[in-house]
Amino acid sequence: MNYRHAFHAGNHADVLKHIAVLALCDALTAKPAAAFALDTHAGRGLYALDSNSAQRTGEAEGGIGRLMAEAPKHPAIARYLTAIRACRHDHGPTAYPGSPWLLAHALREQDRIAACELHPEEAGLLESTFARDSRIAVHERDGYAAMKALLPPRTGTTRLNRGLVLIDPPFEAQLEEFDAALGALRDALTRWPQGMYAFWYPIKLRRSLQPFYRRAATLPAKSSFVAELLVRADDSPLRMNGSGLLILNPPWQFDQTLAGVLPLLAKVLGEDAAAGGRVEWLKRGE
Ligand code: SAM
Repeated sequence: MNYRHAFHAGNHADVLKHIAVLALCDALTAKPAAAFALDTHAGRGLYALDSNSAQRTGEAEGGIGRLMAEAPKHPAIARYLTAIRACRHDHGPTAYPGSPWLLAHALREQDRIAACELHPEEAGLLESTFARDSRIAVHERDGYAAMKALLPPRTGTTRLNRGLVLIDPPFEAQLEEFDAALGALRDALTRWPQGMYAFWYPIKLRRSLQPFYRRAATLPAKSSFVAELLVRADDSPLRMNGSGLLILNPPWQFDQTLAGVLPLLAKVLGEDAAAGGRVEWLKRGE
């Protein structure tokens, strides 16, 4: 386990993922019933963009740095930038929130969050960031095993029907990670068919993702689509040229939200003429 998200926090992939996470939370909180969020690969929850790690890669500059400077007009982007400002208000001007922080920010008193992190140091930091938030349970454990253990979600004897599972693995071993995530999603959908699921993946060469799209389309979700942002041509297997989200059981019109956001992100975060975004349905609900 060499991956540390501190090197990558706030990059173009985080921008896409975190805009989507906030919009999914807002769909969940539109109804009064309590919701549950499971963050299977949570990271430490809070980052400092002036840290040595972040400065070494400079990735945040091409992500949240550019987006803050340009602030393209779209409600989902404005929502995200407001959350970043709230994080900076509480934690200083170079803070950047991780997914558990954003879940805690967007969800309500009656909602519950489980955040899993396997790396002991990251899990320790995560634990201390949320020590005073009784809505959040931090688990130092494998996120895929946690999907088996924690779904369907319950509080006491009550089963929660509404919620989100975010799967955001480090992709240290590309093929194994797709296998693990697709297997875990297939199993989770049988336990908790009504949950919403978001799985993040990197894009190097897009054509190499064809087997993943085919397999994702066979998952037993009611509906599913992929939303992808390329910041440069996907012509090198060595670089992350973009990233995507596989969304299962999306809320109503969520595809349209992302379809509106992606061209704006491509314009602001794109590095060459090949930058662009796309939304493609894999399975439309009956
Ligand atoms: N979701 C976070 C965010 O958006 O702020 C970033 C997560 S980062 C991409 C992936 C994290 O997963 C790393 O902190 C890594 O230590 C952790 N990790 C790696 N393998 C894991 C596993 N099997 N289960 C849980 N966490 C794992």
